[in-house]
Amino acid sequence: MTNKENIEQMRERHLQEIVDLQTNCTHEESTEWSEWYWAIGHKSLSYRKWCKHCGTLTGEKPFTFTEEKS
Ligand SMILES: [Zn+2]
Repeated sequence: MTNKENIEQMRERHLQEIVDLQTNCTHEESTEWSEWYWAIGHKSLSYRKWCKHCGTLTGEKPFTFTEEKS
């Protein structure tokens, strides 16, 4: 008999920790905008940024080919 967690229990526990972290976070600091690829080999469809602390998506804007050229 062992009290060690199995992999499913560990995943579930960390999932709950992540939910708690993201729920309590104020998302004060975000990453820079970065291109978001929805699948390998495809052109990015948008720019996204995330909270540096908890990883929550904090911003999204559409990808445009004219971005910052005007
Ligand atoms: Zn956050």
